[in-house]
Amino acid sequence: MLPGQVVKRLEEKSRELGTRKVLVQLPDGLKPKCLEITKELENLGFDPVISGESNFGGCDLRFLDNAITLHVGHSEFLKDNRVVYWEYRVSVDPTDALEKALPKIAEKTICLVTTVQHLDYLDVARKLIEKCEKNVITKKGKGYPGQVLGCDAGAVGECDAVIFIGSGVFHAQFVALKTGKKVYAIDPYTREMQKVSGEKLANERYIRIEKGRDAKRIGVVVSSKPGQGNMGLGKTIVKKLRSKGKETAIILMDDITPYKLDNLNLDAYVIIACPRLVIDDWKNFRQPILLPDEALEL
Ligand code: SF4
Repeated sequence: MLPGQVVKRLEEKSRELGTRKVLVQLPDGLKPKCLEITKELENLGFDPVISGESNFGGCDLRFLDNAITLHVGHSEFLKDNRVVYWEYRVSVDPTDALEKALPKIAEKTICLVTTVQHLDYLDVARKLIEKCEKNVITKKGKGYPGQVLGCDAGAVGECDAVIFIGSGVFHAQFVALKTGKKVYAIDPYTREMQKVSGEKLANERYIRIEKGRDAKRIGVVVSSKPGQGNMGLGKTIVKKLRSKGKETAIILMDDITPYKLDNLNLDAYVIIACPRLVIDDWKNFRQPILLPDEALEL
């Protein structure tokens, strides 16, 4: 199961760091493969431990003593000498899904984006879209050309609409919210297309800001994960909230969960962490949660 390239990088890293210990970070969808991966690594002479913690993105890195971290499912987000990234690209051809969706898309200039898992099919998708007499743009953001992250829509350039290839709608929602563009989310697994409405997201944003204005005691929750937290921004937001008469404090947190926020018993929270929590998961939280730029608008 481990690709040769990944084994090669693990061996190099092992020589560099002088260890055979490997901490394996699997995203939730791959966690059931923990026994298989353990066995495979042991057969290669490594000493693996599976991390049972979250692995939401390339920023969500975990470490154990002097072990190598094998981070699975995302592309490199942070440069760290101890980490080997295994992107885990999938072989799911989007042709059928695109052929079904394209007759319903009228826009002429299309920005084509996807997640790292589906990048190997970007050219297949581009050719199909071009066959429909459309112009296709692929730009580079923080990752590879055409790759979007749930916190980076830099791969979207000037266009009439965006086509996102991948599962779920979170990335498409983020792109719609950040760029204001119409996004067609095409799922190569289900072969379904969803139009992601920027309007609905703008409305949710407006509601969050209104709820934040009503709150008197607001926690500014800063993620302790290396690529997510920003203490300086936390301090700026605290200053702003206090100038509006709010009581506030900075709270440092690893995984941010409804249970942990319940314990703090405040009226609302600003989340300086992965934007997915606010954009996608807000319904799971009992209190209003806001993005940092929304807090600055209170
Ligand atoms: S902050 Fe969120 S969207 Fe960005 S890389 Fe990390 S997990 Fe992914």
